[in-house]
Amino acid sequence: MTPKYIFVTGGVTSSLGKGIIAASLAKLLQARGYSVTIQKLDPYINVDPGTLNPYEHGECFVTEDGAETDLDLGHYERFLNRPTSQANNVTTGRIYQHVINQEREGAYLGKTVQVIPHITDEIKRSIKLLGETGEYEIIITEIGGTVGDIESLPYIESVRQLLWEMKEEDALVIHLTLLPYLSSTKELKTKPTQHSVKLLLESGVQPDILVCRTEHSITKEMRKKIALFCNVDSNSVIEALDVPTIYDVPLMMLKEKLDKTVLSKLKLSAKNEPDLESWKAFLTRHKNPKNEVRIGVIGKYVELPDAYKSIIEAFIHAGSINEARVRVQYIHSELLAEDNVSQKLAELDGILVAPGFGERGIEGKIHAIKYAREEGIPFFGICLGMQMAVIEFARNVIGWKDAHSTEMNPKTKHAVIDMMPDQKKITKKGGTMRLGSYVCEITKGSKAHHAYEKSKVNERHRHRFEFNNQFTKEFESAGMQITGVNPETKLAEIVEIKNHPYFIGVQFHPEYKSTVLNPHPLFVRFVKAAVTYSQR
Ligand code: GLN
Repeated sequence: MTPKYIFVTGGVTSSLGKGIIAASLAKLLQARGYSVTIQKLDPYINVDPGTLNPYEHGECFVTEDGAETDLDLGHYERFLNRPTSQANNVTTGRIYQHVINQEREGAYLGKTVQVIPHITDEIKRSIKLLGETGEYEIIITEIGGTVGDIESLPYIESVRQLLWEMKEEDALVIHLTLLPYLSSTKELKTKPTQHSVKLLLESGVQPDILVCRTEHSITKEMRKKIALFCNVDSNSVIEALDVPTIYDVPLMMLKEKLDKTVLSKLKLSAKNEPDLESWKAFLTRHKNPKNEVRIGVIGKYVELPDAYKSIIEAFIHAGSINEARVRVQYIHSELLAEDNVSQKLAELDGILVAPGFGERGIEGKIHAIKYAREEGIPFFGICLGMQMAVIEFARNVIGWKDAHSTEMNPKTKHAVIDMMPDQKKITKKGGTMRLGSYVCEITKGSKAHHAYEKSKVNERHRHRFEFNNQFTKEFESAGMQITGVNPETKLAEIVEIKNHPYFIGVQFHPEYKSTVLNPHPLFVRFVKAAVTYSQR
């Protein structure tokens, strides 16, 4: 099967939501019965975003196969309910790394290695890789950045070459653009769109469809004008209004017939009307909540909520199934101290302590956990959040005042969180953590078992430190149980406190696996516990 390719580019400005448009189109095509996947090409020189500070680029999303990737892959999975992989995210760094490695091996036989054809060939190879699996009928490739950026040029050139190589009905380009609104004259302006299409044309690429982000509806005349100036038919000018939630976008694109336009250009049949029943049911519950809970997300990157993207989305999925609106309150862990924690967290129905790295803000996290544990407030700790729950318990329940993680205090006598042995010899930072999916066996009768209704699950990881099994006995006899363990390495994956309404810490990242159609069981139970707590 030769797959069809859809390229998505962006113009005028960044942050227009190419990822959401790509995911929404994929959702519609999938709902019509096509097998679809989405790929993101990122023009930065880092090999992957794993080494990027979340302030730079938001959350780092981890796939089943342990790739550290762009957060848009999270949207793809949440919309399509299908896992992605390393092949779904390619960066300029990875492309150059491959080409340079080849050059060192002598693969270019004395030739000068150049952007064209060697870099563009490698980009094209990466684009086609997913197609070679034979799994997909349609592959959507999102080109990161904005048309006109120096970094994007080799990607646009690769798209130009692919369009030239492929049959007309086998590939198309969707250009996402902005129609700014001038409030003084009360009109939408099309000029920036015309200019960004011109920029694309300068690179030899004619977009087939324009998706126009706009705050106001576009008139028929305006569609005609954009079509005329940008060389597309007016059915191919798609309006993308601002909507209350990203999960409305597939339905908005359906109304605009984006999927039908795409299918007719690719000479594919429209098959059935898209089956979006469960999607719509999710949205109806999301928009008509019966309860409301306030959940504090305690972390050190709270100025940039994108740093916790998957967690926030997991709350939307879990909220919908519980028919509850989850109001997330971001709380900076650095601002929490022993004498203000009860006042700062007083309004909350649930406390989530977020993942993270390094020393900054950890004492604040520990104060929050103590408060949640003592007051019986539902608590959920993820990765560093779980590790801090272990430290809090060791210090305040077992009584080891110096208990710590060797990440923050390498000299402590009670290293209740310690570096995993096979991590100790690693010096390189990129892609070297314990990454991706591992099995976790769950103790029957535990809270986790109650949530999952299963004894064996797979969850994704991203960490170097772990619970120190040397102390298991003391923890268990003081009331903190290890209820999830990796069967091969015996690494502790879940801890919980029995005599508490909901106190769970997980070494893995459940948020990566929560989707619209499959909300994550631990988030579902946590929100449920918060609803119960709010009604106390
Ligand atoms: N810094 C901790 C570790 O490396 C936790 C990582 C995380 O929260 N993702 O083990």
